[in-house]
Amino acid sequence: MSAPAFDSVLIANRGEIALRVLRAARDLGLRTIAIHSDADANLRHVALADQRLCIGPASASQSYLNIERILQAAELTGAGAIHPGYGFLAENAGFAAAVESSGRVFIGPRAESIRLMGDKVSAKQAMIEAGVPCVPGSPGALPADVQAVHGLAEECGYPLIVKAAGGGGGRGMRIVRNAAELNEAVALTREEAGRAFGNPEVYLERFLEHPRHIEIQVLADAHGNAVWLGERDCSMQRRHQKIIEESPAPGISRDDIAKIGERCVQACKSIGYRGAGTFEFLYEDGAFFFIEMNTRVQVEHPVTELVTGVDIVREQLLVALGERLSLRQEDIQVRGHAIECRINAEDPFSFIPSPGMVNHWVAPGGPGVRIDSHLYSGYKVPAHYDSLIAKFLTYGESREQAIVRMRGVLEDAELQGIKSNIPLHQRLMREPGFVAGGFDIHHLERYLAQRED
Ligand code: ADP
Repeated sequence: MSAPAFDSVLIANRGEIALRVLRAARDLGLRTIAIHSDADANLRHVALADQRLCIGPASASQSYLNIERILQAAELTGAGAIHPGYGFLAENAGFAAAVESSGRVFIGPRAESIRLMGDKVSAKQAMIEAGVPCVPGSPGALPADVQAVHGLAEECGYPLIVKAAGGGGGRGMRIVRNAAELNEAVALTREEAGRAFGNPEVYLERFLEHPRHIEIQVLADAHGNAVWLGERDCSMQRRHQKIIEESPAPGISRDDIAKIGERCVQACKSIGYRGAGTFEFLYEDGAFFFIEMNTRVQVEHPVTELVTGVDIVREQLLVALGERLSLRQEDIQVRGHAIECRINAEDPFSFIPSPGMVNHWVAPGGPGVRIDSHLYSGYKVPAHYDSLIAKFLTYGESREQAIVRMRGVLEDAELQGIKSNIPLHQRLMREPGFVAGGFDIHHLERYLAQRED
């Protein structure tokens, strides 16, 4: 092992992912530094870290999104590296560049990779060049000329979707069923995108009616090596937000998955990607269509960890330390089946957030069970942030066994004081469409619309 480039990690995040990163860093003997807002002094990882620092008020823009404050905290604590987690600044190329120019290691890809993949138009172009199949659509951002836009729309075919180059989080998209709707949809999406993402560029894509969401996890080092770690099926979504993920994806042949996985590895090599990343695809009628790349660790990464045995966050740290990937593609095997249920502090059917005091919490356990959560009895869930409070994961030799175990886990969990979506997950684990597997991304919304009880 070459001399480490850093011996301490500042965790620029909160909640379950901050705890996850802390554990991985601790396992490698690295000093851990927690930064937190005024609302988060009672977080689990703050208590466990070797050093802690409050960086600002509850509002994320003044704390977890405040680049200047975070860099000051890194300076004060002598942090050698910064792990951004997911969300907040994880896909902010300016942040990555600022960290690196302050002489620290950004635990993630190079700023140029984040910039390239953060703009969906340039990302798609790079993927087409790398031989990754994309959703058919306009070859780049739309021109101002209305006639030309209509020409591109005809080529693409209706229905289509107008998407913002800078879009994210399921925002900045509009479905267009026919030519009469086109002008208005383009104008509105441009205006919204300019306001929300600071980039008014939009493009067209064919709208797929019944796709599944299938994604490929990759890991790459700074020496040109890359591997893919199987796939995840994240089709159970509401408003484009994933709530259940699993691996492997039911009913898709291993050969087809391997072909797309290899394409992703080639794409990593051709863009000089470094670190953990995910290629997201829509899958319809046996074909994969790239939609975007996430240049960070994802919420659902433990699903892949369970079926491959690879600790993805540990690998992120090792890559950042300059090590070569110790994994070779032929060593990576997907075994058994894993499912993740995202537990949110919200009403299970109205989806209204439910922050507040957790009076009582007993985490489930047992064989094939993994719980990633920062909850403890007496913890107060703040109202200021994302409502994710726990990830329940089960592993089984078969999908059936993973489902049976998840039913047990959902029954075992004791959570009082706040509402959660555990009752929704309990129903979904018995819902025939879920149990059969292979449903499309609209399945959950159809189920919710038809639910009678
Ligand atoms: P974001 O960055 O906002 O997550 P994505 O490009 O990943 O945007 O798309 C989010 C979701 O929108 C997808 O998971 C899918 O549900 C839907 N979507 C995106 N593009 C298409 C398309 N061409 N056809 C059908 N649905 C789409």
